[in-house]
Amino acid sequence: MLIRNNWTRAEIADIYNSPVLDLIYQAQTIHRQYHNAQEVQVCTLLSIKTGGCSEDCSYCSQSIKYQTGVQVHKLLDVQEVLDKAQDAKNAGSTRFCMGAAWREVRDNRDFDRVIDMVKGVNGLGLEVCCTLGMLTESQAERLKEAGLFAYNHNLDTSEEHYEDVISTRRYKDRLDTIARVRNAGISVCCGGIIGLGETDADRISMLHTLATLPAHPESVPVNALVAIEGTPLENQKRVSVWEMVRMIATARMTMPKAMVRLSAGRLEMPTSEQALCFLAGANSIFAGDKLLTTPNPAFSDDAAMFEVLQLKPRPAFQEA
Ligand code: SF4
Repeated sequence: MLIRNNWTRAEIADIYNSPVLDLIYQAQTIHRQYHNAQEVQVCTLLSIKTGGCSEDCSYCSQSIKYQTGVQVHKLLDVQEVLDKAQDAKNAGSTRFCMGAAWREVRDNRDFDRVIDMVKGVNGLGLEVCCTLGMLTESQAERLKEAGLFAYNHNLDTSEEHYEDVISTRRYKDRLDTIARVRNAGISVCCGGIIGLGETDADRISMLHTLATLPAHPESVPVNALVAIEGTPLENQKRVSVWEMVRMIATARMTMPKAMVRLSAGRLEMPTSEQALCFLAGANSIFAGDKLLTTPNPAFSDDAAMFEVLQLKPRPAFQEA
């Protein structure tokens, strides 16, 4: 299959709605044309500044608008972060992602400190990624110069459903930051969350936006909502593995070269369900017992899963 950026919604809907076993088969066939099916990228995500965020993302434990009991923490020290990055590397991670609960980056001493973190993690031979909120052009360039490999900025959901989930920024703000990251020559990590009360049409719409960007994101995280008490979405029901499989397989088929990341929600999934997601074309996971503020499988559980499924971690800096 050729890499295409001119997908129509109808084409993506046809893929998304195919009989699920056909969909898995087709996605796995394409997956094997572009990737080593035995390799899965192992990433670690660390919250470097937790809570107190002025945005109102209705799924998030870190917004100041909701009482979620999250422990607020100011920006960590550089050495503390580097120690955690070394631990992640020792445990088998090849990508280290640092997340700060900021609306946007400000040009201040905290940003200088993040720049030092990026330089330090890069020096450890890890692919270094950040998720810090909205960026200006010059901030994206500074991060690139410091050695930033990738920047995560998720679309979260469809443009049509966006206002039901977040009111403090616009969809266009997201797309603008993604374009700035791309223009600075940084690898783009951009995906979304399912289980936010969206319809299948919203899921198809979000995949359409991603698959018709001028260049596909190199990494596409597919998250299942982990409903957090105290947030407006606390009573959302958990999405099924088949919904995850449809999203992952459709992402794989429309963006064949991307790393498709099975992200939040993995703790609830037995190895058999995760194996279905790998068959559908997922080839990246977050490892470590916390995903920002929500629980995630421990390194040892993932090591056991890799042994059962005979998977191996993908080396850092490998081209698809
Ligand atoms: S998802 Fe990010 S931007 Fe939104 S409230 Fe949480 S920390 Fe803030």
